[in-house]
Amino acid sequence: MNDAVLPKILEHVRQTSILQSTMSMLEWDQNTGLPPQAAEYRAEQLTLLAGLVHQRQTDPVLGEWLDQLDASSAHEDPAKPSRVIARRMKRDFERCRRLPQALVEELSHATSIGQQVWVESKLSDDYQRFLPQLKRIVELKHQEADCLADPGQSRYDVMLDSYEEGANCDQIQRIFSDLRQSLIPLIQEGSERSARFGPSVVEGHFPIASQQRFSKWVAERIGFDFQRGRLDQTEHPFCTTLGPHDHRILTRFSTESFSTGLYGVLHEAGHGMYEQGLDPQWYGTPVGSAASLGIHESQSRLWENLVGLAKPFWTWAYPHLLDHFPTEFRGVSPEQLVQDLNRVQSSLIRIEADEVTYNMHILIRFELEKQLMSQQLRVEDLPQAWREQYRDYLGISPTEDRTGVLQDVHWSAGLIGYFPTYTLGNIYAAQLYAAADRQLGGLESQIERGEFQPLLKWLVEHVHRHGQTYLPMELIERATGEPVDSRYLVEHLGTKCR
Ligand SMILES: [Zn+2]
Repeated sequence: MNDAVLPKILEHVRQTSILQSTMSMLEWDQNTGLPPQAAEYRAEQLTLLAGLVHQRQTDPVLGEWLDQLDASSAHEDPAKPSRVIARRMKRDFERCRRLPQALVEELSHATSIGQQVWVESKLSDDYQRFLPQLKRIVELKHQEADCLADPGQSRYDVMLDSYEEGANCDQIQRIFSDLRQSLIPLIQEGSERSARFGPSVVEGHFPIASQQRFSKWVAERIGFDFQRGRLDQTEHPFCTTLGPHDHRILTRFSTESFSTGLYGVLHEAGHGMYEQGLDPQWYGTPVGSAASLGIHESQSRLWENLVGLAKPFWTWAYPHLLDHFPTEFRGVSPEQLVQDLNRVQSSLIRIEADEVTYNMHILIRFELEKQLMSQQLRVEDLPQAWREQYRDYLGISPTEDRTGVLQDVHWSAGLIGYFPTYTLGNIYAAQLYAAADRQLGGLESQIERGEFQPLLKWLVEHVHRHGQTYLPMELIERATGEPVDSRYLVEHLGTKCR
């Protein structure tokens, strides 16, 4: 039975993947240099393809095949590809089926308008203008959660589960409250220590061409495969996959800030190397797809923060840095550079936050969106609640909404339950790095010598090649030998604060 139906499913997936990767190609092009007058036709192309993809994903024939595969593979090893495909694809198929077409269309419309109005409201610092749109989006997300919920599952649980399968609110609440308790003294100590540092050495004037050359060289050395990928520039950095052997990373360089470009590249290369580590033979199927957003983020943060911001990395990279920037870094020691890159200071904007305070920004958003979903907080009262949370968590509070509640695009795009995956990614990254260090022995000295292959190979072996075979937290537990624990992140951040 299995033998008969699996090839049909795989062929169906292959054709859907071709359509999806064509969409990604059009989106990549849209983000790298679409002439302004081409935008309308491009939107038409993408809408048509999105409709075709949706039709295929909800095709009743596919549903029947998945039912057959599910029944015939029910007693197989849960880690066997046919079993993983049945379980994961049936889940997605059921979710699509539970959502009425009218709700899907209304959400897509409300979030598309929502994002436009959000841009204008942020520019004019006018929350009242955004309020009706956000109210509508939150109402629709309530409806969506009600359609998708299993018995006993809260609305916010449903939202979390759609980005990090198997995660629930109580569990994340526990992990995050532990983390918050440990971060409070670290932020205090880190800020006091950083206040004694001299002026910044990574702000100044850094020619874009040198930054590009240096960043690309670093990406290549840590293991991003340029035979199967490339690096381009964009306004909003991201990483996208256009095929089993085509991974694009996009980043932004700033003449004034040295760290923006390099750390953007390290972050996106981390995402890209994860995609390159997935098994191309299973491309487009759950076995060849990333485990979750949190796991994806763990790979980017691992290379950006755990590797790239630490002393061993600069011990290796420093002479090369001087080759690329002979005058810009003249007289700056590697110690000074590392110290400067790791300054700790509470700030209002999430995407500009340092590694230590960053997670507080996420914890705040987690609290607020949880309350929005349970209707303990009204959308009207969100700006005030935001200011109070910032005062509570970071001891500072915005006077304008554009540097407060209006700063992120996520809620306007209907992405509720997405923020926690950033902090989960940081927690997973630190735990994975510690496990790799234990198993490989002397990761630091390898990095000091510019040997990144052992670490990358370890990640491919323990994380990448499994795709969605295991639930995200199960994957971390298997890779590291213990349940998800914020202790490793706290230990790692502690080294920057003391
Ligand atoms: Zn990322």
